[in-house]
Amino acid sequence: MKKSPQQEKFEKMLDASKFSACGFMGNDKRTVWEIIDADTAMLEKLGTTREKIARRMREITDQGIRGLGDWVKVSDTLMAMVNDARGTIPCPWAHNVRCLKRITIVERTDIDKRVRWSELSIHLINDHGFFQGKGSPYRLEPETLAAILR
Ligand SMILES: [Zn+2]
Repeated sequence: MKKSPQQEKFEKMLDASKFSACGFMGNDKRTVWEIIDADTAMLEKLGTTREKIARRMREITDQGIRGLGDWVKVSDTLMAMVNDARGTIPCPWAHNVRCLKRITIVERTDIDKRVRWSELSIHLINDHGFFQGKGSPYRLEPETLAAILR
């Protein structure tokens, strides 16, 4: 099937180094829709939803902000640190959403797992079900994320 000009432009945005250091696709050979479908299926298997995951990420970031760059204890097994970076980054879906470049690092001390996400990651998951391509520095595996947020 021939791609529409809009689709071409959108895919360029996803790969664009202009907006994200290494793009959103990493070295994933799948299309953005295939990635979203696969991750949605995984979320279903895990018995959760993108909205639930994003809501928990939001809560953790909001708690982490109180640490002003230092680690904050979110729960008995969860630590979070939020690094404020200046500036905003646009959503590649190009619908006038810009997110702060703020990064949240989260560590589950009992299972020794760590993830990090940006404000844009939360938006991409909540609004688009997009966890980014494999090999992207901000790719979040739904399975790992669900295990950490549980
Ligand atoms: Zn968006």
